[in-house]
Amino acid sequence: MSDTTIPSFDGRALIDGERVAARDGQTFDCLSPVDGRLLTQVARCSQADIDAAVAAARAAFEDRRWAGKAPAQRKRVMIRFAELIQANGDLLALTESLDMGKPVKYAKGVDVNSAANCVRWYGEAVDKVYDEIAPTPDTALALITREPVGVVGVIVPWNYPMIMAAWKIAPALAAGNSVVLKPSEKSPLTALKLAELALEAGIPAGVFNVVTGYGPEAGSPLALHMDVDCIAFTGSTRVGKQIHVMAGQSNLKRAWTELGGKSPNIVFADCPDLDKAVEASVGSIFFNQGESCNAPSRLFVEASIKDAFLEKALKLVPQYQPANPLDKNTVMGAIVDQVQLDNVMRYIGLGQSEGAKLLAGGERVAPVAGGCYVQPTIFDGVTNSMTIAREEIFGPVLSVLSFTDAADVVKQANNNIYGLQAAVWTRDINKAHGVARALRAGTVHVNSYDEDDITVPFGGFKQSGVGRDKSLHAFDKYTETKTTWIRIDSPV
Ligand code: NAD
Repeated sequence: MSDTTIPSFDGRALIDGERVAARDGQTFDCLSPVDGRLLTQVARCSQADIDAAVAAARAAFEDRRWAGKAPAQRKRVMIRFAELIQANGDLLALTESLDMGKPVKYAKGVDVNSAANCVRWYGEAVDKVYDEIAPTPDTALALITREPVGVVGVIVPWNYPMIMAAWKIAPALAAGNSVVLKPSEKSPLTALKLAELALEAGIPAGVFNVVTGYGPEAGSPLALHMDVDCIAFTGSTRVGKQIHVMAGQSNLKRAWTELGGKSPNIVFADCPDLDKAVEASVGSIFFNQGESCNAPSRLFVEASIKDAFLEKALKLVPQYQPANPLDKNTVMGAIVDQVQLDNVMRYIGLGQSEGAKLLAGGERVAPVAGGCYVQPTIFDGVTNSMTIAREEIFGPVLSVLSFTDAADVVKQANNNIYGLQAAVWTRDINKAHGVARALRAGTVHVNSYDEDDITVPFGGFKQSGVGRDKSLHAFDKYTETKTTWIRIDSPV
């Protein structure tokens, strides 16, 4: 892509409806992993900026400029917001692709569409959700109502910047809260654009603020803030644990965390369609360069079909070779930055040194000079105790393990600190259901992978986090439940 077709980006924060530099004037470089180019300077926000954003959000919440609107009014604005995301889809997709390296075709086809759909879905839902009346005696009327929690802090990672933000800001805003969003320092640009579009759609100034910057400087002050009522975090388990500590150390704000994963993908010999299982298994681990929390990174194949499975899998690998993300045909783009690329290479080295067999990939490549790229990589002969089977790599690296029967594979699959997702492939309904019930994971796919949509909850068991994104359950995170008990003195 020539320099003239790269948009110019405004890296200033968005607080109280205005684009603003950090109070102390600090910035950081926003580099593209596509080719290493400098995209823009971004505001390096810290305590004073977070204080200003939280104050703006608090003022907006207290005067009820948004929370006080009828649900049907908020719905109309949210739907307009979704339409604007869609209308700006090409720019948002190009921005996302440049900022974090994903193929532009998926940035548009998946990220933009999912973010817009999420905003629209919660907008449409909010005037259809009813509160409750308790089954009291005639001498009382008891209302159980939902109220917005207040000021919601949102901290998100870089792998699906728009979608991760939308999963939180959409239900939070639809429910009437004010939001302060801190995107990852590795991918701050689309969040800023989303907040501009929200303003254009009619979400009042101060209701949706974006502060950019590093985790310890901008994220921690948000998580520790005494005037933030709820913190919704997506990111690593390491930082997620700190978020819960910070919530407890400060005002006991509600803390919700969507964290890491090491999802088991279990293929039995009686899987109904081996080609489909192979395609979904390979496609899902390499999608988004393997930088997906729910990537099926532990593939368990029943011993009797493992050779046949791997032969088919290896034939698919060439189509996932990394290429320029800005090329509309590319399916595997760049790793988000040099730090993450080094991390992926370290795990590939550990796989080899701990005795796994490298079947494919394993090398850095340079389809675009100056960018961060690695080949799609498959290890066979992995055991559940190896580091590449235990830890989240967050890159295009598949660990292949085998098993003998259902009891064996359930034990292996559950033997991990994470519990985000899982899959089971079998034509036996009893086995499918039995294994799905036994797996300790927030979502279990049967004879598919990652085909779910906004209507179902998403989140983890164990150290994959606390709480659920998506579906009507997400409203639970951004509302308080209130009981109003009304005495009725003279029942007729
Ligand atoms: P990360 O934890 O390093 O960072 C996530 C966010 O937290 C960033 O905005 C970062 O700036 C901020 N942060 C870092 N240190 C902080 C601190 N001390 N205080 C407050 N905020 C801080 O994660 P990442 O590398 O950006 O993202 C990858 C991780 O996200 C993976 O573990 C992945 O599994 C997880 N993830 C989970 C889900 C899910 O839904 N479960 C979805 C996507 C990504």
